[in-house]
Amino acid sequence: MTERLYYDDAYLWEFDGTVTAVRPGKKQGTWEVALDRSAFYPTSGGQPFDTGKLVFPGGEAGVSDVEADRGGEVWHTADREIAIGTKVHGVIDGKRRTDHMEQHGGEHMLAGAVWEKLQGITIGLHLGLEDSTIDVSLPGERTHLTEEEIRMLEDTVNERIRLDAPIRCWFPDPEELASLPLRKAPTVQEHVRIVAMGDFEMVACGGTHPSSTGRIGMLKVLSVIPAKGKARISFVCGGRAAAVFQKYMRCADKAGAALSCPVEKLSRAASDLKSRLAEAERKACRFETKDLLELFRREESAEDLKGIALAAVVTEEKDARSVAAAVSDYIAEKGKLLLLACGERLTFARSEDVKIDMAELIRRVGRGGGRPELASGAGIPECVGVARKILMTEMK
Ligand SMILES: [Zn+2]
Repeated sequence: MTERLYYDDAYLWEFDGTVTAVRPGKKQGTWEVALDRSAFYPTSGGQPFDTGKLVFPGGEAGVSDVEADRGGEVWHTADREIAIGTKVHGVIDGKRRTDHMEQHGGEHMLAGAVWEKLQGITIGLHLGLEDSTIDVSLPGERTHLTEEEIRMLEDTVNERIRLDAPIRCWFPDPEELASLPLRKAPTVQEHVRIVAMGDFEMVACGGTHPSSTGRIGMLKVLSVIPAKGKARISFVCGGRAAAVFQKYMRCADKAGAALSCPVEKLSRAASDLKSRLAEAERKACRFETKDLLELFRREESAEDLKGIALAAVVTEEKDARSVAAAVSDYIAEKGKLLLLACGERLTFARSEDVKIDMAELIRRVGRGGGRPELASGAGIPECVGVARKILMTEMK
């Protein structure tokens, strides 16, 4: 069984050990190396593995994955084979681990606050590349939190972070374990390791934690969504929370500059802009509809088509709502037939009293379909001329 050095010192980035076993890795060109002692954290409890390297006389091997087996052996996936008995110097990527400890430590604080303030039971932690999530089972099977509840949880956790309370991890004997006020019962029976953060969180955990709550930095909830009957809380801590703040501030500053207003007035300015834009679009649409209707009337053929006014119109692309409104106005009158190409979009339409199938006609000259009185589709503008010729020939 590998001696786990991170149990005693979560900030131990370098250590010495001896290779006790080697076997081929899961990927081609990799080997799994077991050591008698290691500070590398193997994936477990939602916290991902450490990366780093193993340095030995005459070379070094990169460590890209770390796993523990059921027997408690820690296996390091190395990109070089290392012989059994080799003395190695392990070097851990401290930046990656610090980030994991900030997220993991914050998760404890959040789960503790969720339990204390809302009687919510945290089911599991997922520590992702961007953010982390916990699934919380809330009383009454609630799957959401109010804005006030989210802010209350953030404030509670951040106040406790600022208190910089010590975080302590230890293996209590069974008697002591039975007396501890744990947030939830341990999932293992033996070698139960306890983490206590000040006096506001105490639970069994085998993970790595910062040495005090202050080193979690800060916590920010990003979202709460329903997931499998639970409330899934997504959050960031420490350096990630600072990065999110910087990103959001940059976006807000840019948006504020674009709308010429301070950040605090952004949402008001954005909604004002949205309604002004909608009004302008409505006005533009009214004008375009009027122009189109006039165009249809100008293009009506003077030839006698058994009393039907035929308008064959080719124009550039127009706003779809304006086209629909103008076409509908045009065919509301009796005896009208319209063959329209706006860019590559065809609209063939006719009044109720004109008994010609527009859907069939559009299929004869282009692609599309619809109802006998109104059909639309795609084709080249010349389709309008072709359709007109068909009608002129067949209606004689
Ligand atoms: Zn933990």
